[in-house]
Amino acid sequence: MIPCQPWLTLQRTSTVCFALTIVHLDRYSADVATVLVVGGGPAGCATALSIAKHDSNSRLRVLIVDDADPTAYKVGESLPAVAKRTLALLHPSLATSLVHDTSKGMHSVCTGNASAWASSELHETYALMNPYGAGWHLDRTRFDETLRETCGSMLRKGRFVAVRRVDQDAANANGHGWEVDADMASSGTVETFRVRWIIDATGRKASVVRKIGAKTRKHSDLLSFYIVFRNLLPDGPGPGTAVGTTAGTGDIDGRTLIEAAPSGWWYTARLPHSKRLVMYATSPSDPTARVARTTTGFLDMLHCQTQHIVRTLHGPASASADSLDEPAYEPESPTAKFTRCTAAGSAVLEPYAGWEPFREAVTSEEPDWTHGGRGWCAVGDAALAFDPLSSQGIITSLNVGAFLGSVLAQHFVGDGLDGGSLVREIAKAYEQVYLKYEEGRTYYYDVNRRFDSVPEESTGGMVDGGSIDNAGSFWASQRAPSHGHQHT
Ligand SMILES: Cc1cc2nc3c(=O)[nH]c(=O)nc-3n(C[C@H](O)[C@H](O)[C@H](O)COP(=O)(O)OP(=O)(O)OC[C@H]3O[C@@H](n4cnc5c(N)ncnc54)[C@H](O)[C@@H]3O)c2cc1C
Repeated sequence: MIPCQPWLTLQRTSTVCFALTIVHLDRYSADVATVLVVGGGPAGCATALSIAKHDSNSRLRVLIVDDADPTAYKVGESLPAVAKRTLALLHPSLATSLVHDTSKGMHSVCTGNASAWASSELHETYALMNPYGAGWHLDRTRFDETLRETCGSMLRKGRFVAVRRVDQDAANANGHGWEVDADMASSGTVETFRVRWIIDATGRKASVVRKIGAKTRKHSDLLSFYIVFRNLLPDGPGPGTAVGTTAGTGDIDGRTLIEAAPSGWWYTARLPHSKRLVMYATSPSDPTARVARTTTGFLDMLHCQTQHIVRTLHGPASASADSLDEPAYEPESPTAKFTRCTAAGSAVLEPYAGWEPFREAVTSEEPDWTHGGRGWCAVGDAALAFDPLSSQGIITSLNVGAFLGSVLAQHFVGDGLDGGSLVREIAKAYEQVYLKYEEGRTYYYDVNRRFDSVPEESTGGMVDGGSIDNAGSFWASQRAPSHGHQHT
């Protein structure tokens, strides 16, 4: 959802209570792994695939525990073209699957970006001008499932519930410094994993590392409200639809469209399977957040505050005409009273990673492993969560996962860094990624000054029958340097 230019080049509650107590290993039977990745989204899968790729002699045992529902809609569909390169590096079949699935209409091609950001006029960039070609509007659930399938036997279906440090003697004996409990889908029971490194790839919740003691620092407060619409028009291929696809609809607009509004910004993308996502982002404290929570409030605001996005939901004639054609879309769940809502601000983890050396180096079983200690790290949104305006969440998760996997594999099997140096290296790399992101975010919020002093009547939105009285403050709050600093 980049405004015109690329932004970066670039259940058991009782168990949880004992999360950080020291335990004696011999009381438990446990599955053993070198690295346990919790969360099988883009970040977790990329990390696991990258470790496997760099562990040429298959000396490391990597497991992923993930609880995703493969039938649920997942938001976050825009994938830049350059992602194909990262996917191919992680596993050749990933890039091939993406192209194949697109040709079958399971993902849509993104033909470019159009944004009414610093002015009400649309500014366009075309995929044709991109050296990497066109990006995608993904069926995100399918994309993530493909990543998980590629991880093969590394993947276990289950939900993380607890993490414990094991006692020093037991850890010294076999090098496994952590015990992790997960509620496993296959058995319906809580199983325990003994591991050397834990990677938290659970997304924004950062469920694992927050139990270890890390904190998430919010950099910007943002909520996203969204509705998935379904197309009512008959099928028919349109520009931007891949050759041979069956997913063409009366909707021929394959662009990513962004429109700034007095108290937030709107976004839409045509999805595969004749659907369209419309999203509104604002601060949680803004009065429009209350309005956008309900479907009727959201739709009213959509009609009052947008001129370009609202047209994408109407018939093709609306694209050029002054008045709106018949609606071409209706909400996928027409009886839903509330919109879907999720946190969407920038957040960073403090610290990103940790290493606790054991008293003595280990071990008799694996004499070349000289880095005795327990390590942990977060990756993806758990470490660095971005404003969706950047459209950089998935690609960054893939890239950072690829990096993390390579340095971890070297740490274990090559002439890699010792644990302490590895943690510092990870922090340095993440900090660079974050600074680059923050530079882009600041630029884009800074460049939009058109709502700084907006006359009330032009806000076009109503809050419970009254006018919005703080138009412009959303933009000021997003521009405030690193505002927030709240820890969770
Ligand atoms: C509204 C919105 C729109 C967005 N739009 C875009 C976009 O268009 N393009 C883009 O690139 N990015 C977008 N993003 C960001 C993008 O979705 C994320 O950056 C990306 O999903 C991060 O990947 P991840 O693997 O870190 O986390 P996730 O994708 O969140 O994956 C986490 C995984 O961990 C699993 N998990 C969680 N808890 C547990 C547990 N206790 N036990 C086991 N498994 C667990 C989950 O089931 C999931 O499979 C958007 C984000 C938001 C909020």
